[in-house]
Amino acid sequence: MQIAIPAERLAGESRVAATPETVKKLVAMGHAVVVEAGAGNMAAVPDAAYAEAGATLAASRAAVLAQGDIVLTVRPLPEDAIAELKEGAVLIGQLAPFQNTTFPQLAARKVSAFAMELLPRTTRAQSMDVLSSQNNIAGYRAVLLATHYYPRFMPMLMTAAGTVKPARVLIMGVGVAGLQAIATAKRLGAVVEATDVRPSTKEQVESLGGKFIEVPMSEEEKKANDGVYAKEMSDDYKRRQAELVAKHARQADIIITTALIPGKKAPTLISREIVAAMKPGSVIIDIAAEAGGNCELTVPGEVHRTDNGVSVVGLYNLPGLLAADASSLYAKNLLTFLSLMLSKEGFTLNLEDDLLAATLVTHDGQVRFPAAN
Ligand code: NAD
Repeated sequence: MQIAIPAERLAGESRVAATPETVKKLVAMGHAVVVEAGAGNMAAVPDAAYAEAGATLAASRAAVLAQGDIVLTVRPLPEDAIAELKEGAVLIGQLAPFQNTTFPQLAARKVSAFAMELLPRTTRAQSMDVLSSQNNIAGYRAVLLATHYYPRFMPMLMTAAGTVKPARVLIMGVGVAGLQAIATAKRLGAVVEATDVRPSTKEQVESLGGKFIEVPMSEEEKKANDGVYAKEMSDDYKRRQAELVAKHARQADIIITTALIPGKKAPTLISREIVAAMKPGSVIIDIAAEAGGNCELTVPGEVHRTDNGVSVVGLYNLPGLLAADASSLYAKNLLTFLSLMLSKEGFTLNLEDDLLAATLVTHDGQVRFPAAN
């Protein structure tokens, strides 16, 4: 089989879907890999490294896609690229299934497209879980980004010139990104608090040395939120949460928000009133900016300073700020996923496999997402 790696087209996307390490493994399996020239430049992978690993390089996207039986991407292909795909090609990437409007075109070209965001959160899927590998990076990078805008130290320091207080960091949403943000902020010496709608996260926060802020919940609410993903909360819960958050936000120097609900706009957790009550010099990093943001004042894709001196950071694609490691982990996720279908012997798409069935959004001329119930 021919595996094609086009350069990413989305503005600011610095990652790439294959690395020399994954190319070598595909070549060792007896397959051919073609990479668009320059595809790895922003991820610290020069063309020569791909060539050394056994890939061929092609000068244009059209030339790459024309050869691809299997196409690996980080982001959805732009609409004009779909016509360049081979009919019946396999496409694997983060296809933004809840926002993507190109599935009918992909189906019309008989593409078998896999949206990696739809991978079930099961033990078998862990090594292919792109949300985990990338959100882990986002959580780490969010803390470092906060230190860039925060005009004070993170750790407590006792110096001859005086004592510096440690920063108080509040993490909202304790999934993969939130847990890594807690660990990173702790390593830098901050005092960390965190909150989540899923009661099971309390133990995880405490095991990392953070303090869990518990919004009082009825037994019914606790039961509804004992799964891996959060549910949208009632207005009454949101009111209770806002009151508690307002109290802790006033004391926080840095707030990192990561709260997401799959397929929905991110919940608003920080109102403009809360921001207005924060201290000058404090910082909000809104990792959920791309999904609409957790802070009412987030300007998606931008950084701005409020009148009371709070920096609100809504930059997109934090994993892209660590493009080399983000690409390396992402490429390994894709290779492991691809191994469910591709071996030395060839390619087989087994629709009985729950991981393949859950992620396959177009196949055999049909759009399969969202699945009809
Ligand atoms: P996510 O990115 O979907 O959401 C981030 C966090 O925001 C979640 O913890 C969620 O509960 C929280 N949240 C949502 N609404 C909120 C609100 N209104 N207020 C406060 N917090 C809110 O989450 P994720 O990082 O994808 O992780 C989701 C779960 O999946 C976690 O339990 C994680 O441990 C689990 N997981 C399992 C596997 C696996 O077994 N393969 C892999 C990765 C993650």
